[in-house]
Amino acid sequence: QFDDMIYVDKLATVSEMAASFAHEIRNPLTTVRGFVQFLSEGTKDERVKKFAPIILEELDRTNEIITEYLTLAKPAQFQLQKINVDDILHTSVHLLSPLGAMLNVSFQLYTEGKSDAYGDADYLKQALLNVMKNGMEAIESGGLVTIHKTVDEKEKEVIITIRDTGKGMTEEQLKKIGLPYYTTKSKGTGLGSMITARLIREMGGTITYESRLNVGTTVTITLPLYEGD
Ligand code: ADP
Ligand code: MG
Repeated sequence: QFDDMIYVDKLATVSEMAASFAHEIRNPLTTVRGFVQFLSEGTKDERVKKFAPIILEELDRTNEIITEYLTLAKPAQFQLQKINVDDILHTSVHLLSPLGAMLNVSFQLYTEGKSDAYGDADYLKQALLNVMKNGMEAIESGGLVTIHKTVDEKEKEVIITIRDTGKGMTEEQLKKIGLPYYTTKSKGTGLGSMITARLIREMGGTITYESRLNVGTTVTITLPLYEGD
């Protein structure tokens, strides 16, 4: 327990610093991207034609890493309050559906029971997007991401399960989820699951992963049920 607390504290300091650098790096990066795009548009130079897409891709990757770092630092507006989980689920599915359609992945969302939880809407959305995106990315040639939301009145919990029909994980792989920089993807950052776990924990919730190789993965998120009014 105590070791874990020390680790978390260090992480907080590092991430606060990283967030302030990240902000500064973003602006020049955007400028560079704009000029590379401009120079490569309608060019006859074979080398530019060949390498510009790689430059743009790597710049986008850099930007993605920065975005993930930024979410590591607690935003000023972080607030635990009554949130509507169903609304946030619908928004998240809506955001990812077009990308899913391109990858031949369909989303199904089922919600049941009370929808008010105690949490932060932005945190929950970010966490859900990370998990759903992983589910989508685990599917190689078409499949399903199914999301169920139920309520356990006794435990006073909202339970969200996100199940994919993707390639699943071995036990060893499953153990590594959430370690910083652990990724099996050529363009992964290996930060998504670590950030997700942090966001859920900040809201007093839990997150667990179950997986079977070549069958799929189920991620279960719980959040405290909102009990006011
Ligand atoms: P990234 O997505 O950038 O690789 P994550 O922290 O989100 O980083 O995930 C870490 C790794 O965990 C992934 O590279 C993948 O190997 C594994 N993983 C996460 N979610 C799933 C899933 N739903 N199905 C299969 N593997 C997964
Ligand atoms: Mg990810």
